[in-house]
Amino acid sequence: MQQPARQFANLIGGEWVRHGETAADINPSDTRDVIGEYFKATAPDVAQATAAARDAFRAWSRTTTQVRADALHKAAAELLARREELGEQLAREEGKTRAEGIGEVLRAGQVVQFFGGEAIRLSGERLPAVRPGVDIDITREPLGVIGVITPWNFPIAIAAWKIAPALAFGNTVVFKPSELTPASAWSLVDIFHRAGLPSGAVNLVMGDGAVVGAALTEGVDAISFTGSVATGRTIAKRALERMVRLQLEMGGKNPLVVLDDADFDNAVNCAVNGAFFQTGQRCTASSRLIVTHNIHDRFVAAVRERMQALKVDHALKAGTEVGPVVDERQLEKNRRYLEIGRSEGAQLTGGELLARETPGFYQAAALFTETTNSMRINREEIFGPVASVIKVRDYEEALSVANDTDLGLTAGICTTSLKHARHFQANAQAGLVMVNVPTAGLDYHVPFGGRKASSYGPREQGSYAAEFYTVIKTAYISA
Ligand code: NAD
Repeated sequence: MQQPARQFANLIGGEWVRHGETAADINPSDTRDVIGEYFKATAPDVAQATAAARDAFRAWSRTTTQVRADALHKAAAELLARREELGEQLAREEGKTRAEGIGEVLRAGQVVQFFGGEAIRLSGERLPAVRPGVDIDITREPLGVIGVITPWNFPIAIAAWKIAPALAFGNTVVFKPSELTPASAWSLVDIFHRAGLPSGAVNLVMGDGAVVGAALTEGVDAISFTGSVATGRTIAKRALERMVRLQLEMGGKNPLVVLDDADFDNAVNCAVNGAFFQTGQRCTASSRLIVTHNIHDRFVAAVRERMQALKVDHALKAGTEVGPVVDERQLEKNRRYLEIGRSEGAQLTGGELLARETPGFYQAAALFTETTNSMRINREEIFGPVASVIKVRDYEEALSVANDTDLGLTAGICTTSLKHARHFQANAQAGLVMVNVPTAGLDYHVPFGGRKASSYGPREQGSYAAEFYTVIKTAYISA
């Protein structure tokens, strides 16, 4: 007998709320497999969640840092202990491989643990006044209610690296996850809910971006958003009308420069990993491979060989290296860009739709060669297992092509030349620079974010997260 579908409820003011329409959470590796049904929140639900978060803020912002650290450490311990189960669930609903799913839950646990410590480490400053008999104290205070809006591609890690610092510094949260990954979001919130927070400190409102996301901008004090540039712009316009503090992390069109003097095998690994792992669905993916002409043909041949050998299959099948595309819409978008690239005159290898034992959104990795940086495939984010090679004369041209983009999240270079590596580090117009390592793959204790249209507002993660999640007060005191 078929099991009844699991239901994922919204969390509002400490109560699991089950009302209204539901939508299905589908496994992209096997579209017959329904992970569950989630309740779609309405605009009044969002208003209620925001009011509950505001109530909870009164208590939570006054708790000791030890209470906050304990709650975060408890949540982190559960995430770490359940990483296999939650990683598998993540792989089932998003399509990344089991290993990638487990790795992401591990990362989420580490992030939450780190911010448990940050709650205690938050410091201020005392400056001598220029006037006699006056002290100046500079302190950081919580902001209030934080609206957290996240994408589907890292449904646990990104939510964790926003919710954990928000709570660590005494804020409360209304969290709106992506429509495509409600189970991961629900599990994370369930863990926080049972970790010793007051009712209403974390609220979950699932549903459509245009309804729930839009309503969220109405009542909160700050919004931390990760997603596409187009959605970021829409949110920014509305939020700025209310003078809401904003942190937007958006798309990438990240270059990986490969110079003639690179360690060849490492460069090929960096390219294949950066372009195709996690099905290319990473904001930090290497979508533009900028290669100097002497190494170009050999490099393209080696990348082609590696990508054609990648095992694309069910995310939970042993041996799978690349899972399916997240849904039909993204698959269609990828296919559209393959057509666009061909019509622009680029040469395509791979990219075919693949049939597997289970019905899913399987696509072979795709590589465009003979491309120029002005082609749409090199200017617009595709967000799938699709990369382009751009042939250049020398390092100078490579740097100029790397920087010729509206986006600026990560930029990588593979070279054994210290001179070029240091010059690239100083001159790449990106928030993150990677030398001889893939453009994707980051540590959890350091700042993360981009430049140009990739990012807006203060950095996420590490001790830098306090810039966004706290507000500074300067006090002059004369005894
Ligand atoms: P998206 O912009 O479509 O959606 C992101 C979130 O915004 C979802 O929760 C969605 O429901 C919500 N949303 C949609 N319309 C909204 C509206 N009008 N108001 C408020 N919220 C709304 O992005 P996606 O497809 O989920 O994710 C892929 C994108 O995310 C890519 O562009 C990728 O580069 C980017 N991304 C960036 C980073 C980073 O840190 N820079 C990390 C991961 C993903």
